[in-house]
Amino acid sequence: MSDGYNFRQLKAAILAMSKATDWETARKEWALVDIIEADEPETCLCGHFPIVEICAIHNRVTGHSTEVGNVCVKRFLGVRSDLIFTGIKRIRKDPTKSLNADSIAFFRQRGLINDWEYGFLQDTMKKRNLSLKQMGTRKRINLKVLGAVSRRGLQAN
Ligand SMILES: [Zn+2]
Repeated sequence: MSDGYNFRQLKAAILAMSKATDWETARKEWALVDIIEADEPETCLCGHFPIVEICAIHNRVTGHSTEVGNVCVKRFLGVRSDLIFTGIKRIRKDPTKSLNADSIAFFRQRGLINDWEYGFLQDTMKKRNLSLKQMGTRKRINLKVLGAVSRRGLQAN
């Protein structure tokens, strides 16, 4: 299409790396496993350029991995990865802010935050007036999350 997101091209590329041969089954073999912030714009599997918020996806059946942008991951996996990136930018700017629901769920699935931290983040998500101890905990978890976000490119650290 004119917006540069060629969904047919994405489907063909994903099907080639899947076990199932029909799209509705094949797409269910895939999961979002990592998010990467790129300094240099890259091209999505669908042909769209530029993407700087990269989603690493993995096929649990065939073991293949690949990367797509936010728009495609949403269309094909139904995951709002764009909201995860928004959540990360928010706490990077101010680590006293809370992570959003999409980020919390994603980092729990990835195993970065444990059950207790998951519960804590949910309980305190909407709270502005945290105790000193709670604020310390929030910041500690936020810094752990920021440290785990993959970056790619010249400014990577
Ligand atoms: Zn795409």
